[in-house]
Amino acid sequence: MNTEKIREIFIRFKKNNPHPTCELNYKTPFELLVAIILSAQSTDKGVNRATEKLFAIANTPEKIQALGEAELKKHIQTIGLYNMKAKNILKLCAILIERYDAKIPRDRDVLETLPGVGRKSANVFLNTIFHEPVIAVDTHVFRVANRTKIAEGKNVKVVEEKLMQVVPDEFKVFAAHWLVLHGRYICKAKKPNCPECFIGDLCEFEQKTPPNSD
Ligand code: SF4
Repeated sequence: MNTEKIREIFIRFKKNNPHPTCELNYKTPFELLVAIILSAQSTDKGVNRATEKLFAIANTPEKIQALGEAELKKHIQTIGLYNMKAKNILKLCAILIERYDAKIPRDRDVLETLPGVGRKSANVFLNTIFHEPVIAVDTHVFRVANRTKIAEGKNVKVVEEKLMQVVPDEFKVFAAHWLVLHGRYICKAKKPNCPECFIGDLCEFEQKTPPNSD
């Protein structure tokens, strides 16, 4: 896709939603990082339902550590992979308390070494809390980038690198949010809503959903 079209797509994303935000609920950086860990292969809505009650009683590394594994699991058992996620969150709390004064370091390399935090999670965290111009590639971003041909690639690393090259700097901070929301609500995995897509005339997907296709 040429650069003019890419720019126009992001102009429309911005016009449609000038200040997009992460759909995970959080009040502190620690709450966001826990929510990000819980959101792997789970919906933001499901995570928000669980964290609303969890964070009301434990929203710091010390408090979650005091809660203990069994109690933590009770709060997150509606979320997929909760056993592994509970273990990772407790390990995360221990590391933050022991090495980082119970605070989350603003350092990509350190973030990526924390239990349950990979490159995508580190990008979401740095982008959401510090507004760093990085683009986290999740399943929605990957799909939308490939379908539209904004940034094609066989794996998330390639798509992330291409997005960082082709997305104009002025749009980078919100780029992942726009692409996630577009993928979640319009360019859905099973049946993209092409007839109502506001970037449909620019998108280069060959198999667009035709109008009246119900
Ligand atoms: S036109 Fe269809 S395939 Fe292209 S971005 Fe819009 S919903 Fe997705």
